[in-house]
Amino acid sequence: MGAVRQTRTGGVSDSIEFDEPLSKHASLRIGGPASAWAEPGDLPALKQLVEWADERSMPWYVVGLGSNVLFPDEGIEGLVMKLAGDLASIELSERRDEALVEVGAGVVNAHLVRHLLNEGWVGAEFLSLIPGTFGGAVAMNAGTKEASLREILQSVTLLRTDAAQPRVETVSAEEIGLAYRHSELPGDTLVVSGTIRVERGDGSAARERMKMDRERREETQPYRLPSVGSTFANPETGYAGELIDRAGLKGAKVGGAKISDHHANFFINDDDATAEDFLRLMARARHAVRQMEGVELRPEVRFVGFDGMERLRRLEAKLAGEDSDA
Ligand SMILES: Cc1cc2nc3c(=O)[nH]c(=O)nc-3n(C[C@H](O)[C@H](O)[C@H](O)COP(=O)(O)OP(=O)(O)OC[C@H]3O[C@@H](n4cnc5c(N)ncnc54)[C@H](O)[C@@H]3O)c2cc1C
Repeated sequence: MGAVRQTRTGGVSDSIEFDEPLSKHASLRIGGPASAWAEPGDLPALKQLVEWADERSMPWYVVGLGSNVLFPDEGIEGLVMKLAGDLASIELSERRDEALVEVGAGVVNAHLVRHLLNEGWVGAEFLSLIPGTFGGAVAMNAGTKEASLREILQSVTLLRTDAAQPRVETVSAEEIGLAYRHSELPGDTLVVSGTIRVERGDGSAARERMKMDRERREETQPYRLPSVGSTFANPETGYAGELIDRAGLKGAKVGGAKISDHHANFFINDDDATAEDFLRLMARARHAVRQMEGVELRPEVRFVGFDGMERLRRLEAKLAGEDSDA
């Protein structure tokens, strides 16, 4: 953990940790230090932290479990936050055979599903094998082949920071433009909570299906190795993993980053990989698939605290230059 210092300046009463290694907060185990890290436990603390950062002209970011992020090796000059406490709570309102559930953005997906099944509510099980928090699931419209969050999300409560004072606003799910692994949350906004709709159902049958899904995943994906799951979104026609495999890149390595032998869309931190290794491997895959298949792979991984797309394009231009020299 980074150096801990209590700060009272700017009215922030939560503890802020300085120089916190971001590698601890990413499933890839990659990332330099954040100059400030905080885990606000309620809305007033969250607002104060955003104001604290704004007063210092510091950019701020919010992450969940870091299951889909690449942080830069050089770290982030800014405040990185993870929502906790009351911002990670679940509240159910029952109406006969259905319930509306208000889910804090910091709630871990697997805990949400377990809680709902214990109370006899089904419909959110697809989230159980998606590592991360509810806020991350909203931002990514997380999902599987069976369903995505868009199908059950009713409304979202946001913290908007585009005015002088941060303000809370609840909008309908349609207003945040959820599409395949994509949302249109403005950059000055973070998700505080969301409401989903679930139904009364057979919890034990749902648990049995989840068990089978887990077994299938463990057979077809390197589910327990450090990765972000799918590195690229699937293009409209076909699967990113198949295209990367056809380009002959299964098992390819750059530094400590490796394309899984098991599933070519899973890029693994195999041996102390850096963000640079990971980006160079991504650039190699995008370049090869573009050359061989004419398909542009869209990164599903989110670059937090740096312009990863720009870095990728520069690396790809270099690869294209090497091709024309050869
Ligand atoms: C082994 C493995 C398997 C995976 N399988 C799947 C899968 O089947 N389907 C799938 O969709 N994904 C999958 N993923 C990717 C990942 O689990 C999802 O994208 C997940 O929703 C990320 O949630 P998170 O809380 O970890 O978000 P993070 O990775 O921490 O953040 C992701 C993005 O969301 C933003 N964000 C996080 N919280 C908030 C908030 N409160 N408000 C606004 N923005 C926020 C972050 O800034 C970042 O841009 C997998 C990942 C792994 C490691």
